[in-house]
Amino acid sequence: EFPVVCIDGPSGAGKGTAAVMVAQALGYHLLDSGALYRVVAIAAEKRGVSPTDEAAVADIANTMRLDFAVGGADEPVQVLLEGENITHEVRLESTGAKASVVAPLKAVRAALLDYQRHFVKAPGLVADGRDMGTVVFPESPYKIFLTASAEERADRRFKQLKNKGVNVSLAAVLEDIRIRDDRDMNRATAPLKAADDALTIDSTSLSIKEVVDSIVAFVRS
Ligand code: C5P
Repeated sequence: EFPVVCIDGPSGAGKGTAAVMVAQALGYHLLDSGALYRVVAIAAEKRGVSPTDEAAVADIANTMRLDFAVGGADEPVQVLLEGENITHEVRLESTGAKASVVAPLKAVRAALLDYQRHFVKAPGLVADGRDMGTVVFPESPYKIFLTASAEERADRRFKQLKNKGVNVSLAAVLEDIRIRDDRDMNRATAPLKAADDALTIDSTSLSIKEVVDSIVAFVRS
């Protein structure tokens, strides 16, 4: 009943940044679905559960106490797992890779389905991930598939990491992106792909402002 703007696409396409800015422009709520898979991976590790033990990881996804809180300038959204602030860990590159290992598990995706749908509230929601338009909110008329070349995505991620003082090579970042693309696109459950009725935006040579403006214009049209 309330509009849901779905922004799906591969790692590093700028979905997270675009989603925040679109939500601000429209005054909508925000769902970072990747954070849920990241938290499940962290929770499994903390409890010593193997990331491929489907029943045990799904049990964690069903029972974990997860909260999002408003933080300060350095952590605008805080992620709390069982009351513990795990925001920093959630955002690590290594956590994204671990998330893509638990994400193919059917029972895990099923456990998170209802949870994600509960984020829909007045006046609307902007949801970013891999399967927002294809699986979680398939009735939404506002589906965006945001992509960019692997080289461009690696280059952006590399610059971000360098700004944070993380010491990595561009080649290593590109390799990570390729591995994650491969896992996300070739899995059996909810593989990453554009919904049939999605508007595809290739951001390879677009600024973030151009991306946000075209999404907002699409929703308002
Ligand atoms: O978007 P983010 O990098 O936070 O996502 C981490 C991983 O979680 C992705 O590589 C993907 O494997 C998984 N994911 C997913 N479905 C979503 C969001 C994320 O499978 N809707």
